[in-house]
Amino acid sequence: MSEEMKTRKEKVLSSPKNGYDRMDCGEREAMERYCTLYKDFLNKGKTERLCVKEAVALAEAKGFVPFRRGMELKAGDKVYTVNRAKSVMFAVIGSKSLAEGVQITASHIDSPRLDLKPTPLYEDDEMAYFKTHYYGGIRKYQWVTIPLEMRGVVALKDGTVVDVALGVGDEPKFVITDLLPHLGGEQGKKPLNEAITGEGLNVLLGSCPVGEAGESDRIKLHVMEKLNEKYGITEADFISAEIEVVPAANATDIGLDASLIGAYGHDDRVCGFAALQAMLDMDTVPAKTAVCMLADKEEIGSMGVTGMQSAAFDTFINDLCDTQNVPLRVCYEKAFCLSTDVTAAYDPMYADVYEKRNSAHINYGVGLAKYTGARGKGGSSDANAETVAYVRRILDEKDVVWQMAELGKIDAGGGGTVAQYMANRNIATLDAGVPVLSMHAPFEVVSKLDCYMTYKGCKAVYEAE
Ligand code: MN
Ligand code: MN
Repeated sequence: MSEEMKTRKEKVLSSPKNGYDRMDCGEREAMERYCTLYKDFLNKGKTERLCVKEAVALAEAKGFVPFRRGMELKAGDKVYTVNRAKSVMFAVIGSKSLAEGVQITASHIDSPRLDLKPTPLYEDDEMAYFKTHYYGGIRKYQWVTIPLEMRGVVALKDGTVVDVALGVGDEPKFVITDLLPHLGGEQGKKPLNEAITGEGLNVLLGSCPVGEAGESDRIKLHVMEKLNEKYGITEADFISAEIEVVPAANATDIGLDASLIGAYGHDDRVCGFAALQAMLDMDTVPAKTAVCMLADKEEIGSMGVTGMQSAAFDTFINDLCDTQNVPLRVCYEKAFCLSTDVTAAYDPMYADVYEKRNSAHINYGVGLAKYTGARGKGGSSDANAETVAYVRRILDEKDVVWQMAELGKIDAGGGGTVAQYMANRNIATLDAGVPVLSMHAPFEVVSKLDCYMTYKGCKAVYEAE
């Protein structure tokens, strides 16, 4: 290319660069350190409840204290509130009044999985099983023949809540079986999304009978006795339980160059952790109050008392506003929210569902999305141009590698995030997040660079003037 053409092109044309061509050695080391922390968080946080526990532990180690209604707050104070053990909100009080708005990140910590049904335990032909009801959008065929563990709680009538962890570490795992190819001819002719059914996702629990030959339900009894021995629970207690069947595999580096991370639950703990860690690493008092929201229930529509549509968020911000006698509506109308949720990474293996020029690419940084949605932006908040410009500016000021993205081809499908629920509150909101390969699979893949840039992006939002 001639020098003249080069100059002319540089002047008016965009030329996106791979993030590795924009990062120095020092930053690569910081990225590795950050990703080690992230993998540890994932391994400890396989459910939303466990994420809340781990997030609170990390925050308390950095000086965060539980918010009490009526407590006095000054600039630099760090507080949090847990909503029913499944969602948590953190805030660092800024030097400016809450009337100037707050800088929010909103991620979710629930992930697609298999929940136990209220009456889950049964025996069939001398094997014991749990019935499950899947949560969120899963591709059912991906959940058979992989090692599984179970995490959750059993709430007893006396008010005690028993933590359940089965199949963890060296303990025996669980599995959902599939047909052998020798007998799978008919099943193999079915469409991918019909070959394995929801009612077919039954978790194998055991095969060893107790008691005497000729008795019924000897395996089921054995399994229930084991659970009773370990947790003091009976079959009826499953009625008030939340036990999630999740992949047993832990987070691991992927690739000969170890540039990627494979794990269960990147969606959306990869953004949740970025948002949390960015807040924990803020070493100066922010100008505006910084808020980190880790929500539950996004994968089923942000419904419910712990979802982003719940008034729990408004209550928390209102309580903060009360400490400065600022009306909540005044705070909201000047607030900004980065709705930090994952986006689809362009996958050359499945290129036909992506529009290459408007897709998020691995290692091109945090993916901003003006809109999400399906069938013509349906269900999207569609941020205004001014909000997008604002985010371009604050990310560029902090050397954050970012890219602009849509989630796949227009007619191929689509998806949503919590952005619309924040925007409905009269908060200027933009979607941004890590591009993910195999999103919603039991083992999803992200790039370390994109994880790290999302962390930097969240920090830039909190620290914006
Ligand atoms: Mn998500
Ligand atoms: Mn999702």
